[in-house]
Amino acid sequence: MTTAENTCGPTDTPSDIDISALREKYAQERAKRLRPEGSKQYVELADDFAGYYETDPYTPVAPRDPIAEDIDVVVLGGGFGGLLSAAYLKKAGVEDVRIIELGGDFGGVWYWNRYPGIQCDNESYCYIPLLEELDFMPSKKFADGPEIYQHCRNIGKHFGLYDNAIFSTQVRGLSWDEGLERWRVSTNRDDDIRARFVVLASGPFHRPKLPGIPGMKDFKGHSFHSSRWDYDYTGGDFTGGMDKLADKRIAIIGTGATSIQCVPFLARDAQHLYVFQRTPSSVDVRDNAPTDPEWVKTLTPGWQKERQRNFHAWTFEGMALGQPDLVCDFWTELGRNTAARVMALDDPASLTPEQFMGIREEEDYKIMERLRRRIASTVSDPDTAEILKPYYRFLCKRPLSNDEYLPTFNRPNVTLVDVSDCKGVERITEKGLIVGGREYEVDCIIYASGFEITTEISRRYSIESIQGRGGLSLYDYWHDGYKTLHGMTSRGFPNQFFTGFTQVGISANIAANYELQGEHIAYIIAEALDRGATVVEPTAQAQEQWCATIRENAVDNSAFDASCTPGYYNNEGGGGGEGIRSHLGEPYGPGFYAFGDLLAEWRATGSLEGLELHG
Ligand code: NDP
Repeated sequence: MTTAENTCGPTDTPSDIDISALREKYAQERAKRLRPEGSKQYVELADDFAGYYETDPYTPVAPRDPIAEDIDVVVLGGGFGGLLSAAYLKKAGVEDVRIIELGGDFGGVWYWNRYPGIQCDNESYCYIPLLEELDFMPSKKFADGPEIYQHCRNIGKHFGLYDNAIFSTQVRGLSWDEGLERWRVSTNRDDDIRARFVVLASGPFHRPKLPGIPGMKDFKGHSFHSSRWDYDYTGGDFTGGMDKLADKRIAIIGTGATSIQCVPFLARDAQHLYVFQRTPSSVDVRDNAPTDPEWVKTLTPGWQKERQRNFHAWTFEGMALGQPDLVCDFWTELGRNTAARVMALDDPASLTPEQFMGIREEEDYKIMERLRRRIASTVSDPDTAEILKPYYRFLCKRPLSNDEYLPTFNRPNVTLVDVSDCKGVERITEKGLIVGGREYEVDCIIYASGFEITTEISRRYSIESIQGRGGLSLYDYWHDGYKTLHGMTSRGFPNQFFTGFTQVGISANIAANYELQGEHIAYIIAEALDRGATVVEPTAQAQEQWCATIRENAVDNSAFDASCTPGYYNNEGGGGGEGIRSHLGEPYGPGFYAFGDLLAEWRATGSLEGLELHG
C-alpha cells in the first residue's frame, strides 16, 4: 500500500565489487554493441514501410468531408502534450481550438500502446497529470495503460476538447501564408485549415522505429510493431488471454521498457517465445501496491506538484538533503544511497562536485551489482542469467521494474537469444530470424524496437514539410541545433509553438514538462488575441540571447553518455556522423524549476519581452 509514512532510507547494496574491473567490462560491453551507422541502422517508415505509421489497428477510419476553415488555434497531437496545451488554452479563455490527432481518440502513447501488460513505469501519482483538477486517483502505484488512456479521454471531456477535435487525421504540411498571416495546415484528409496559431505536440514516442535487419521484407509470416498490436492475430487483450497464440512460435525483437512488460504475457500464451536481446535492461522489483485510501485522505491541495518536485529532486537533481523521499522506489534509490554517504561525512558541506560525483558513481556500481545478483538468484540457468545481466551505469538506459519478466526465462517454452555479438539480429528470412548462423523459424515477429526519438527532426516529426516565412524549412533552420526563445518559439516561424525537449528546463516527469509549456504557450496566445495581434514572433536578438543562455549554462553529460552502451538515450552511441545527442534536446542547465520561475517572472512583467507583435 502507498501510505503517508512511505518514506525510506538507503538500500543494502553489495560492496564486494571491483569497480575498475567493472568499468573495463562496461567499456567492452559498449564497444561490442557500437554500430558505425548509429541511428541510421534503423529503417525509415518510407518506401516499403510507408503507410505503416498511419495504420491504426484500433479504430476504423470514418469517412468525412474535407474541412476548409479559418480558426484561431490548431494543436497537433492529442497525447499529453496536445491535451495539456489545449487545456491551458481553454483555461486562458481561448475557445476556438482544434486538436488534430492521427489516432482514433485522445491518448497519444496511451492510445497507440495497448500491448498486453502495459503499465506506467513511473509512479502514477507523479506521472499522470491534473489528478487534483480532475479529482482522480490512480488505482495503484503503476497504473495500467487503459486507466491512463481513460484519464486522457477524461481530460478531453473536462475541457471540452472533443467538440472540435478531428481524429484519424495526419498533418502533411504546415506553411506560413504571409498574406493571410495564418498557417495553412494540409492533411491526409484534404483539409485546408487556416490557423492563426499552431502548437506542435507530437511527443517523442509517436513514430515507430524498425531495425534495418536485412531481409525484413522477405518474411512470409506475420509481423507488427508493439505500438500497433494486432489483437486480431493474437487474440486476447491487454490483460493477456491471447488464445490464438497457442500453436504459434513468436519472436520478439528488443528488450526495452515495452518488451519487459509484454514478454511474460507472450510466454504464457505462445507455443514458444524467442526473445532476441541485444542489450539487457535493468529490471528491479515492481512492488506495485494498490492505492491506500487512508493515504489519500491525508493529501492536501497541491500535493501532486509537491510530489513531482520531490521526485525530480531525488532523481534529476541527484539528491534532496533534508527532504523525505516520498516516492521511494528504484528511481530514487541512487539519490538516497548517495545522500546517506554524503551525510555520513564529517563535513558534508565541504564536498566538491567532483567528490560528490565520485560517491554517486560508486553507489551506481553497487546498485547495478545488486540488480545483477537479483538476476542470478531468479533465473535458474546460469548461462541465461549471465546474458540477462546489464553491464552499464544506472541511467545509461531507462531503469525498469517487473516481477514476472525474469522468472519467464525459467519456462521451458521461452528461449533467450543473445544477439549482442552480431550487434543485432543478423538477417530475416522467409521463415524466421538468423543469429550466429542458426535460423529460428517462427510464425510471427513482434518489433519491440522503440521509437524515433533522437533521429533528425525531419525524420521524427512526421510532418512532411514545415515552411515558415519565405518558404524557410524548419528542418533546415534547425539542422545544426535548435534556435528558439524559451524552447517554444522560433524566428521565421511566426505564431508557431513547440512543445517537448528543445531548449527548455526538463522535469523528471514528462507530463510536468508539457504542463509548464502548455501554460506558457497559452498565455502568449491569449495575450496576442486580447491585444488584437495577428503575428507573434521572437526577435532575432531575444532568440540569440536564449541560445547563448542555453550554451553558457549547459551541463556537460557527454563523458557519461559516451561511456554508455548505445541506445536512444545517447543517440545510439553517436555513430553515423551524428555524434552523441541527448534525447532531452538542449536542456536549460539550471533545471526545470529555475526554468519555471524564469517563465513566470517573464509573464508577470506583462511586456512579452523578446516577442514582436503585429496587427
Ligand atoms: P526501446 O528503444 O527502449 O527498446 C528497443 C529495443 O529494441 C532495445 O532493446 C534494442 O536493443 C532493440 N533493438 C533495436 N534494434 C535491434 C536489432 N537490430 N536487433 C535486436 N534488437 C534490437 O523501445 P521501447 O518501446 O521498449 O521503449 C521506448 C521508450 O518508451 C521507453 O524507454 C520509455 O521511455 C517509453 N515506454 C514507457 C512505458 C511506460 O511508462 N509504461 C512502457 C513502454 C515504453 P539495444 O538496447 O541494444 O539498442
